[in-house]
Amino acid sequence: MTQKPYVVDELISAKSIAARIEALAKEISTHYAGTDKLVVVGLLRGSFIFIADLVRELDLPVEVDFMEASSYGNAMESSREVRILKDLRGEIAGRDVLVVEDIVDTGYTLKHVLEILETRHPRRMEVCALLNKPSRRETDVQAKWVGFDIPDKFVVGYGIDYGQRNRNLPHIGAVRFTE
Ligand code: 5GP
Ligand code: MG
Ligand code: MG
Repeated sequence: MTQKPYVVDELISAKSIAARIEALAKEISTHYAGTDKLVVVGLLRGSFIFIADLVRELDLPVEVDFMEASSYGNAMESSREVRILKDLRGEIAGRDVLVVEDIVDTGYTLKHVLEILETRHPRRMEVCALLNKPSRRETDVQAKWVGFDIPDKFVVGYGIDYGQRNRNLPHIGAVRFTE
């Protein structure tokens, strides 16, 4: 993929992310206290660092599973058409499920994934998203827990890519083209 030259301006520091995750994990642990074993479903690939940090702060028995959904289209725009590339390994019928997403933008990806998972009859299902772009929403999906509301900027880092680059940045930054 060819990319125009760009720089990444820091938007959320690694320290702020860690502090926010600690707070989210406390809320989530309280919410699910007494649950037999929570199934935490990470949506690949963008959530891989977030889910790793989040589950380590949870004071609960958890099972970790992954799913990969992809929207066709270019690297910066959702096509609003979603397909499942990798499905869960485990069963979720009758279980408490927490879906972990990197960013909720238009909401089409999450809506589609939740519709699929609902057909399997989880006991309860909630969403925790690291980032939320409320101004971009085109669907009625909502994450019960959100790390940060952000403006309409294309972000990278902390697991999130631009053309498979920048996932390994420890912070969240906004892409700015330099020409
Ligand atoms: P939606 O279906 O809600 O429009 O978009 C969901 C997915 O698009 C996110 O989970 C994420 O993978 C990708 N996405 C949305 N906004 C951004 C962004 O600012 N940066 C990157 N790298 N991906 C984004
Ligand atoms: Mg995603
Ligand atoms: Mg991507």
